[in-house]
Amino acid sequence: MSFNKPTLSGTDLIHADDHIPHGLEVAPSISVTTTFRNPTPWQPGLGLDDEADPRNPANHVYSRYTQPTSTRAEHVLSKINKGYALTYASGLAASYAAMVYSKPKRIAITGGYHGVHMSLNIYKLGRDNGIEIIDIDDEYKEGDLVWLETPLNPTGESRNIKYYADRIHAVGGKLVVDSTFGPPPLQYPFKWGTDIVLHSATKYFGGHSDLLAGVLVVESEDVWKALWNQRTYLGSMAGSLESWLLLRSLRTLHLRVPRQSENAISLVSWLAQATGGKAHDGIPAGVIDKVWHSSLQGKDENDWDPKEQLEGGWNATFAILLKRQEQAALLPHKTQYLIPATSLGGVESLIEHRIASDSKADPRLVRLSIGVEDVEDLKDDLRQAFQTIVDA
Ligand SMILES: *Cc1c(COP(=O)(O)O)cnc(C)c1O
Repeated sequence: MSFNKPTLSGTDLIHADDHIPHGLEVAPSISVTTTFRNPTPWQPGLGLDDEADPRNPANHVYSRYTQPTSTRAEHVLSKINKGYALTYASGLAASYAAMVYSKPKRIAITGGYHGVHMSLNIYKLGRDNGIEIIDIDDEYKEGDLVWLETPLNPTGESRNIKYYADRIHAVGGKLVVDSTFGPPPLQYPFKWGTDIVLHSATKYFGGHSDLLAGVLVVESEDVWKALWNQRTYLGSMAGSLESWLLLRSLRTLHLRVPRQSENAISLVSWLAQATGGKAHDGIPAGVIDKVWHSSLQGKDENDWDPKEQLEGGWNATFAILLKRQEQAALLPHKTQYLIPATSLGGVESLIEHRIASDSKADPRLVRLSIGVEDVEDLKDDLRQAFQTIVDA
């Protein structure tokens, strides 16, 4: 296995939507209209005719179907994710759409983002005889859907996409990979055999903690069309303002994510040296029990190394386990730069006592999403916060 670090093309991020008709403006205008003028008397292939191409950026009818700003964002997302991308109102709207489209007999899912499990419960209620949920490591049958999140919330550890893709494809099922924690250029799930890639665009694609959106990416135009048709009637498209903010954000994805990744790996290796009862570089001894991250995972029993999958860099969200629950509750409120808040992927670093937003989380677990600040300032900030909670 060779590790050619994949690059994310800045030119694609800035220009993949150039061909879409627009005026003299340099920055894309936000399109707020819900309805569009019919350009000519109707003829086959125009408007909402079955022959019409919903990816044609010049053919818009009503904004629940398509509108120029989200079409532009989708053209950029398609290019950088190496497939056909469709945007949704949120990551969970995209998750629900993936379930509806896949019509699985059973869903194999274990752990990961709690909201997806809640969405799955609602989906289950809508099915005639419910739907069986099995463990991701159970035996699969034809018609099953494997739902694989990697890197995994909240620990930021990785799972082997190819291993699950091979197992489910062998029995005639499908694989969805929730790649929210591993945006381009960190990992490319199609390379390892997934059928659908899901992103909460609220996180790294949005990157500024100011928009909600979701994305599904598929490898065939026919599947994209089917998803688009269902989105139209589920009514779960992204809003104009959100699409516009998303497009603005995508222009700098190649600058933000590698920087976040570098900052994170620097902090992870620094924090990991203060475990096992040792003090390290200003971090007091006996505060941190454990650090979780893909880089600390090592090879699994099949000799698989997470580095093969995270070939563009390590993920920038991870978790630490403190020795004491009271300290885990206090730590996020003693940092100055790291903000006590849930979510992840933004330019500002966040730190969260995870149980505050996920009641099933270990009460000693603190999740960190690393932003684009200067990493030495983040270390200083954490040093003084650790000292404060030890002295408290
Ligand atoms: C946030 C998140 C989601 C849900 O996305 P929303 O945009 O909040 O609906 C799904 N999966 C993962 C891994 C997430 O972090």
